[in-house]
Amino acid sequence: MNTVTNVSRLTNAVMQGAVFHGNDRITIERVAIPEVASGEVLVKVSRTALCGSDFKLWHKGAEFTAGHEIFGVVEQPGHPMHGRRCAIYIPLHCDHCAACCRGDTQMCLEVSSLIGWNRPGGYAEYLPVPENCLLPVPDDIEDSLAPLLLDTIGTSAHAVRFAGRIVPPSESGPVLVMGAGPVGLGVVLALKSHGYDDIYVADPNAARLAIAQSFGAKAHPVGNTSKRFALIVECSGAHAARNLGIELVLPRGALVLVGENAAPWVIEEGKVFRRKDFYMIRTFYFPIGDFAPNIKLLRRYKDEYRVLVDGEFGLSGLPDNFARFARGELIKPVLALD
Ligand SMILES: [Zn+2]
Ligand SMILES: [Zn+2]
Repeated sequence: MNTVTNVSRLTNAVMQGAVFHGNDRITIERVAIPEVASGEVLVKVSRTALCGSDFKLWHKGAEFTAGHEIFGVVEQPGHPMHGRRCAIYIPLHCDHCAACCRGDTQMCLEVSSLIGWNRPGGYAEYLPVPENCLLPVPDDIEDSLAPLLLDTIGTSAHAVRFAGRIVPPSESGPVLVMGAGPVGLGVVLALKSHGYDDIYVADPNAARLAIAQSFGAKAHPVGNTSKRFALIVECSGAHAARNLGIELVLPRGALVLVGENAAPWVIEEGKVFRRKDFYMIRTFYFPIGDFAPNIKLLRRYKDEYRVLVDGEFGLSGLPDNFARFARGELIKPVLALD
């Protein structure tokens, strides 16, 4: 590891970065470039996609620079990865615990930090990244689509692969996706690529539903209870949707909880919940080994994924565009630092 030159070069160096103060306030400020520790490299951010999970930080404030759907270029002269275009895998992982050895790097038993949450993230010009979190991106993947390889494709495809062991395409019948945000729409494409061909989507937002339909899914009215499903992928995080999922999942079927919600969820243990064998599955992020198949998925549906990236702006445009994103006016906008 040759970080010495770089650290000394950048000591006291400053960059532009977003500060999340809480109360929905973001300012762009000159902040210190975080230190690069041993085993890490400095990455110059090119694109960071906005994510709904950042709303929590927007409301409450962030201790570290937020932003966790990051694509950039390694800026570490002398390092073998210098100049490489990389997406950033956010869960730190040890590579030797039982979970990592099984390939479940997103659930490492030794370290649990997430880039953009417990350490500096990508709403800034630079960030330090552990070497084993660098995911090289092939040249045919354009910069603005590269961050989609993480949450939009990685999280959704992992959920589909995991649930596919319980309810394979050959036995599924119709499948329901609840929530047509970036992950829900990503789930639609992942389901298609895995051979699920009868896909229904429920979302109150007509524009998002129309995108799901353009991807080949059928509209399912929100709250409708007339149809039941062997596989339901819940991507909204809404408690009402989860509860409805418990009701609509067929016996022996699977309800996959991909959406997140910071508020406690109470399950009423009534007849609907009690008198049925079914799987309730939670999946988180994706194993690092999924990255290669996820690149294939992006190549296969490039035009569809491109529809999701509906905003691009520099750091000065982040505060306003983050507010628009929070109002649901944008699906997957990206911060672009060129
Ligand atoms: Zn995210
Ligand atoms: Zn580990």
